[in-house]
Amino acid sequence: MLDKTGADHGTDVVEATLTRLVIANRILAREDIIDNFGHVSVRHPLNPERYFLARSRSPEVVTRDDIMEFTLDGEKISDDPRSPYKERHIHGAIYKDRPDVGAVTHHHARPVLPFTMIDIPLRPMFHMASVIGTEIPVWDSQDEFGDTNMLVDSMAMGHSLARTLGDGRVALLRGHGAICVGASLQAVVMISIGLRDNAALIQSTLALGKVTHLTDGEIQKTSDMLLSDVPLARAWDYWVARAGYGGL
Ligand code: MN
Repeated sequence: MLDKTGADHGTDVVEATLTRLVIANRILAREDIIDNFGHVSVRHPLNPERYFLARSRSPEVVTRDDIMEFTLDGEKISDDPRSPYKERHIHGAIYKDRPDVGAVTHHHARPVLPFTMIDIPLRPMFHMASVIGTEIPVWDSQDEFGDTNMLVDSMAMGHSLARTLGDGRVALLRGHGAICVGASLQAVVMISIGLRDNAALIQSTLALGKVTHLTDGEIQKTSDMLLSDVPLARAWDYWVARAGYGGL
């Protein structure tokens, strides 16, 4: 996509997306959403049949050079010898099954883990968590796959997980963690942090008394507001600064 001056805006768009993906890795590490394992991906901005994801490396140290490009079936685009994440099929299956999704996280944020195995709803109980949606389904790999190494390491498992996700923004994985999806990297970071905060707040509230959840209408109206451009940009700036990249 060259313009009259010879500038390649297609490359600009892709490079801006890759920079945002690197920063999203650093933010999610800084905010204790993603630790040594877990990952974040983004759909290719010019080709919806591809996505970008780091090589198998902890998000805290991911750089531009670590980013790899995949087909939605999880095949590497080039003959890149580096090892990809075994659980990359989570991302490809969701991008295939959910054309509205532009970015995906998979993580094991510790406050979320109890809700993957006990019958206490993780429904939003404060406004900033409204972005996680009304119902948070739990996917149990036992149901279709029996005893496994607990990794979502095939397209069949990825699609099974995507079916549990349905048209929602979050699904939990029993005894494992969570996936979050959003239209953009900024949105999926907000959803991932909202999920972690909501889980921690429900636990601290239950120690004191009864939890009052937001209503369906409150969740809808508040999440529409928070996921709009101005609040998302404001939150993103804050997380970028906390990750050490303020003012860039
Ligand atoms: Mn995992």
